[in-house]
Amino acid sequence: MTKEELTIFIKSEALRLGFDVCGIAKPEAVSTEAINTYNKWIEQERHGTMLYLQRNCDKRFDPTLLVEGCRSIIVVAINYTPQEPIEGIASYAIGNDYHKVVKDKLYTLLSNINDIQPVKGRAFCDSAPVLERYWAVKAGIGWIGNNRQLTIKGKGSYFFIGELFVDIELSYDTPTEESYCGTCRKCIEACPTGALQKEDFDACKCLSYLTIEYRGDLPENIGKKMKNSFYGCDVCLKACPHNKFATPNRTEEFKPGDELRKMNLGDWSNLTKEKYTKLFSGSAVERCGYEQLLRNISAFNKHKEE
Ligand code: SF4
Ligand code: SF4
Repeated sequence: MTKEELTIFIKSEALRLGFDVCGIAKPEAVSTEAINTYNKWIEQERHGTMLYLQRNCDKRFDPTLLVEGCRSIIVVAINYTPQEPIEGIASYAIGNDYHKVVKDKLYTLLSNINDIQPVKGRAFCDSAPVLERYWAVKAGIGWIGNNRQLTIKGKGSYFFIGELFVDIELSYDTPTEESYCGTCRKCIEACPTGALQKEDFDACKCLSYLTIEYRGDLPENIGKKMKNSFYGCDVCLKACPHNKFATPNRTEEFKPGDELRKMNLGDWSNLTKEKYTKLFSGSAVERCGYEQLLRNISAFNKHKEE
């Protein structure tokens, strides 16, 4: 099989396994511009307490240091637009943990490639020092919107990104050159905390960071800025006009379980540890932990009571 034929096989196999888009990037060192932007963001401490983002930068900026012998990066994106949103929980977290779902599918893809041609590779999904959105752009999948999300023309931005670093050379896609944000500022204007600016993103102000990653006490009155969610935030996604093209996802694992679907906003005030475990076992919400979720719910409810 030629590398062109193998590339076509891999892309069609990725779609067959449930991914919505697949592109191939050449694993070159990351551009100086992207490195400078990243380093400046870290120096300004916009990453808050997410100290893992300042580690392993040699690997982050050179994929061949992360996976020796890497010759192609297969980048996939999978839609998580919910069929039915769950009040209180950001859309990405209402089903099974996406890290596992995406990586399992990528390892199946690797195994299926192996049936055709010997290949070694490693799969990642938000789990290693990989500049995922950068590689998605390099693979021609989409552009990074002002809300800092990978946005795919005609599909929107409710997407998880995954990568398979492989030791075979494939046909590389042409990187996306254009942003289709144009003069739009809807996400910036909609952000309730001012975390988003055209050229800047301050994670420390972002509700997703504060309610998921941040372990300390929440800022006073933050509940007033939470719209319908105490775990994560979908406001800048919902504001994006490109998401009028978003269609409900087709992935069984991303659908909420019956217990979660039955929850209404009032039920969260009485959340027990037992119920929490029942609702979120195997979910990305486990990252937050029970006590922290109660912290968020309390801030959310406080403002509703005012
Ligand atoms: S997730 Fe919410 S708080 Fe964070 S940037 Fe988007 S709108 Fe702002
Ligand atoms: S809301 Fe507008 S500016 Fe923001 S990502 Fe979407 S198109 Fe770009």
